Amino acid sequence: MTTVNPDQNVNPGQLAESILNGGAATEADALTLLATPDEELFGLVHAGSRLRREHFGMTIKLNYLVNLKSGMCPESCTYCSQSLGSKAEILKYSWLSTDEAMEQASMGIGGGASRVCLVASGRGPSRRDVGRVGEIVERLKDENPEVEVCACLGILKEGQAEALKEAGADAYNHNINTAESFHDNIVKTHTYEDRTNTVEHAKAAGLSPCSGLIVGLGESDEQIVEALFALKALGSESIPINFLVPFDGTPLEGQWNLTPMQCMKIVATARFVCPDREIRLAGGREIHLKSLQPMALQLANSIFLGDYLTAEGQAAADDLAMIRDNGFTILGQEDEEARTEESVGCCGAEAGCCSDSKTTAEAATHTDPVIRRRGAGTAEVANA
Ligand code: SF4
Repeated sequence: MTTVNPDQNVNPGQLAESILNGGAATEADALTLLATPDEELFGLVHAGSRLRREHFGMTIKLNYLVNLKSGMCPESCTYCSQSLGSKAEILKYSWLSTDEAMEQASMGIGGGASRVCLVASGRGPSRRDVGRVGEIVERLKDENPEVEVCACLGILKEGQAEALKEAGADAYNHNINTAESFHDNIVKTHTYEDRTNTVEHAKAAGLSPCSGLIVGLGESDEQIVEALFALKALGSESIPINFLVPFDGTPLEGQWNLTPMQCMKIVATARFVCPDREIRLAGGREIHLKSLQPMALQLANSIFLGDYLTAEGQAAADDLAMIRDNGFTILGQEDEEARTEESVGCCGAEAGCCSDSKTTAEAATHTDPVIRRRGAGTAEVANA
């Protein structure tokens, strides 16, 4: 790792202006952005949001994960609840059938996802595994040609990226996870180079490379900057930013190294370093960003809808409300703002069950007030 000194003179607004005029953030700029004082966070977000809007307008891309095979992985990734060494009480199962995978994917597509991510635990797929995933990809693309399909199956061997491309996959995900200089601290059973080779392999086969990070592993700010510039150089077109979920029973249990503000600064720095790439808020979004989630949408243009691989996400309806309430539109549904969502019924059930069905917007905007029956004037404890 080369030593980079932060440039104390960086002004986020001026840096954004310079990037919009064809410039680029340097590593020193990025280090300074990461160290933005908390009281100046809003200025950083405001500047970064100009870059987001320049390339992605006010759209949010929804991605949906289908965990095809969960747990029992022989690799030693310390952050992962699916490793054989993990005692985390996650769901463990072998390959979903094509029908089961299709059923799961259809839930996400129905919720508005424009990309389905087919994920399987393990070091990498066998030939047979690529065949079974290829079958799912083919069916997904046949039935939903407008939906992108991304596979995430680990380290690829010769010919496997080509086979997935042939089946119709659009993208391949393989995260670098962290900086090269920190990689050996988090896993011993494969190398950083194994990971970058797979990203290159996928790219060479014509798959859109998706590679990102996990932050909060104990890496330094310099290493976050190192990793972001590595992703830029690697040509990652979509960059998921995962915030460590330190599951009990994993080696990183109890490592809560991040604050919501620090997460915001990381997302902002990613936007400045990679202004035109899809920046996705990934695992750990809810528990780390907390009430700053909506603000993070000013920087990131992509999220996962629903649950993650082994952890639950917040309710999909809450994500959709957050997007709508903050003035964003879902990618692929830009013309459907006044959509009636098959008329959300007054009882919340299926279309047509109630006489005074509302539009989606009305249903979301109007929350009936709850009459206070606690605190002053009552014998109940106050809400404080
Ligand atoms: S290779 Fe993937 S599934 Fe296996 S332990 Fe590492 S991150 Fe988890």
